[in-house]
Amino acid sequence: MKLSRRTFMKWSGSGVIGLSLLRMGIDLEPVKAYASQLKIEGAKEVISICPFCSVGCHIIAHVKDNQLVSTEGDPEYPVSEGSLCAKGAAMLSMTRNPHRVTAPLYRAPYSDKWEEKSWDWILKRIAARVKETRDQGLIRTNARGEQVNRLENLFSLGTSHMDNEECALVHQAMRGLGVVHMDHQARI
Ligand code: SF4
Repeated sequence: MKLSRRTFMKWSGSGVIGLSLLRMGIDLEPVKAYASQLKIEGAKEVISICPFCSVGCHIIAHVKDNQLVSTEGDPEYPVSEGSLCAKGAAMLSMTRNPHRVTAPLYRAPYSDKWEEKSWDWILKRIAARVKETRDQGLIRTNARGEQVNRLENLFSLGTSHMDNEECALVHQAMRGLGVVHMDHQARI
């Protein structure tokens, strides 16, 4: 009989497996003591989806006291069968790594260091640079005199941290500016 992970967890939770092993004379006390120290002991399992590419691997997220305590691949997801690439495997650190960047960083021209800036400051700065670049590079007409409003000095690179809807919004905004050169990182 094929034993799925869920069935195993259910059985072990209900003591069926433990009872069978006990009947075979195997002492489970050391195993129980070890399990009680595991960070996922008593945690709720929530199935989530890795956001980093279109494979969409399922992730089992363990939540305890409203905190994410562990993530792992879902063996029942038929595409990846529980395996995760380096990005998906590092999912937990995306939420709790102390080295994670949590504010915009700016490096001034010719500077050798990054400065932390507010979102207001950085968004105004980006908007000003985009306008400046567009004012310099907008091609209004082609060689035949037809209106094209094409911008070739600005390039847009999408990030796998955006979902489909966010990508659609960015795409529309870029096309609205006239950007023709675009690519996206979240592809296999
Ligand atoms: S980034 Fe990796 S883990 Fe995430 S969905 Fe893609 S292949 Fe799966």
